[in-house]
Amino acid sequence: MDYIEALQDMSVEEIGAVIEVIQKSSDSYFYIMDLSTDTYMVTNKMLERFPLESTVIQNATPALQKIIYHSDYPKVTEDIRKCASGEQVVHSMEYRWLDKDGRTVWIDCRGTVIRGTDGHKFLVGRVTELGKEAKADNITGLRKEVRFQYDAEEILRDRPESIHYMMRIGIDNFKEINEKEGIEAGDTVLRELADCIVATVDQRVDVYRLMADEFMIVDTVPGSNTDVRAVYDEIKNKVAETVRRKEYSCFYTISAGVIKDGFEGTGAEEILRLTEFALNEAKRNGRNQMALFNREAYNDYLKRLDIRKLMRRDINRNFRGFQVFFQPIVSTPEYKLVGAEALLRWNCEKYGSVSPAVFIPILEESGLIIPVGRYVLWQAAATCKKWREIQPDFHVNVNLSYVQMHKSDLIEDVERCIEEVGIPAGSLVLELTESGYIETDNRIKELFKDLKAKDIDLALDDFGTGYSNMRYLKEIEATTVKIDRSFVVQALKNDHDYNIISHIIEMVHSLGFSVCMEGIEEEEELAKMMRTKPDMIQGYYFGKPSPAEQFEERFLKGEIFKNPV
Ligand code: C2E
Ligand code: MG
Ligand code: MG
Repeated sequence: MDYIEALQDMSVEEIGAVIEVIQKSSDSYFYIMDLSTDTYMVTNKMLERFPLESTVIQNATPALQKIIYHSDYPKVTEDIRKCASGEQVVHSMEYRWLDKDGRTVWIDCRGTVIRGTDGHKFLVGRVTELGKEAKADNITGLRKEVRFQYDAEEILRDRPESIHYMMRIGIDNFKEINEKEGIEAGDTVLRELADCIVATVDQRVDVYRLMADEFMIVDTVPGSNTDVRAVYDEIKNKVAETVRRKEYSCFYTISAGVIKDGFEGTGAEEILRLTEFALNEAKRNGRNQMALFNREAYNDYLKRLDIRKLMRRDINRNFRGFQVFFQPIVSTPEYKLVGAEALLRWNCEKYGSVSPAVFIPILEESGLIIPVGRYVLWQAAATCKKWREIQPDFHVNVNLSYVQMHKSDLIEDVERCIEEVGIPAGSLVLELTESGYIETDNRIKELFKDLKAKDIDLALDDFGTGYSNMRYLKEIEATTVKIDRSFVVQALKNDHDYNIISHIIEMVHSLGFSVCMEGIEEEEELAKMMRTKPDMIQGYYFGKPSPAEQFEERFLKGEIFKNPV
């Protein structure tokens, strides 16, 4: 039978009816394209999935432009042009379409050119979604992430109430296994873990392998074990048993992130994001454990992302919203102003004034502390220069983050700042938070030496909060130790801590450093803590951090500190 002739004798409706019949027995979508008249005929099933208006499309080009991913469009039209011009008789391409929700879908489109008796050319073929085809992962035998997305989308849309839980499991040290033991060992571990998971859950429960070393369990099976902790523990025990049985040839542990409710109204992408967050929480908490998705923590995380975005925007708008405040530092026992600590503030329309305890870590994580740190340094130095005209021995303290020390050329910045602004190096004090890195990082020790050689004073900040270690003082060649407010608060409350502070101050003095006590708020606090003989005091009692103009009015031109004791 001459198919082409038969096609010529059929009406468009009849051809449509034929492809509709074939369509019933396939996951692919069938189409016929009349290359001579730019008419496109598709099945109803295709209309359900992709944004096409009817099964017969008279003006095919603009319709295709709407569903073909924009950057793939030129190469697709070029291929179809070749079919129309007779340069080729087969169309076979993998490219992207957009579904009704505007999401990209990888497809495999194949067609054969058929010439009709009246000279019309048809392209007859089918479109297959690649994601639906890629059903199984060769290593674990499980279905892959694309398949999870299809299935999850359907379950979340049609019967979200049937989901008991979704559990995302990750190997804690997979990268290390691949690097140290080789890819083969990595594949074996994946296979073992897949087996442990499958052996634990009800056999009707869906298990997928996501990218890299992660797995997803989707339990919608009535009567299955919905105690997620028990499920996780069992998988974990099976893994430990496997590791033992194989004589520790490859040691690994697993973490899991679980979501148990709130499925209504979500989609597969969202579930991937939420379970990834929960899994990361489990890893952050120390790995080898399970974390339940916590909406509050997630919202907090989203807020921090938002703050980061807003700060980045403000930095690019010439540091709009950022401001440097100054808090007085007073000498004892005469209570004379010796300088100020520069403290960064950030305000935005959406969140108002955000605490440095919140925004400083975000600046550090994102590296944005580097440009912002420069901004603070320059502002502080310029202000210091101005105030030294009123009080020639005035000092300004600037906080430094370890990120600035690690990831920027701090010495160069400080030198350039001193030179550009025109202040003596000795009027600047850099504050560094004490923490373990000082001990271990030789580069930082070198940096301190260089700063010291340039006559820049260093203060060890937050003393008493973390690794309080007298050795640092020598190592960083600090001149001052700043005792943190939390430590002072403890000392005000109990004799034990009071005695510790007293002894620390004695010891610091005997080593030749001076002490600045932070966080004195009340007169009685001052009276009590003065007995421990600090050299300087910084606290609300003498003044809260304030904008430069206010500081100048109040502390440099106005008020003289009186001995309140
Ligand atoms: P820090 O360097 O230890 O600064 C002292 C903090 O204690 C300041 O908080 C100050 O306002 C507060 N404080 C001072 N006296 C009192 C008091 O009597 N009572 C109470 N309740 N608090 C007092 P602030 O300004 O919120 O800054 C918090 C931290 O943020 C700073 O602690 C510092 O680690 C960081 N930070 C602030 N500005 C910068 C900056 O420009 N760069 C970097 N890297 N960190 C900064
Ligand atoms: Mg400080
Ligand atoms: Mg401090």
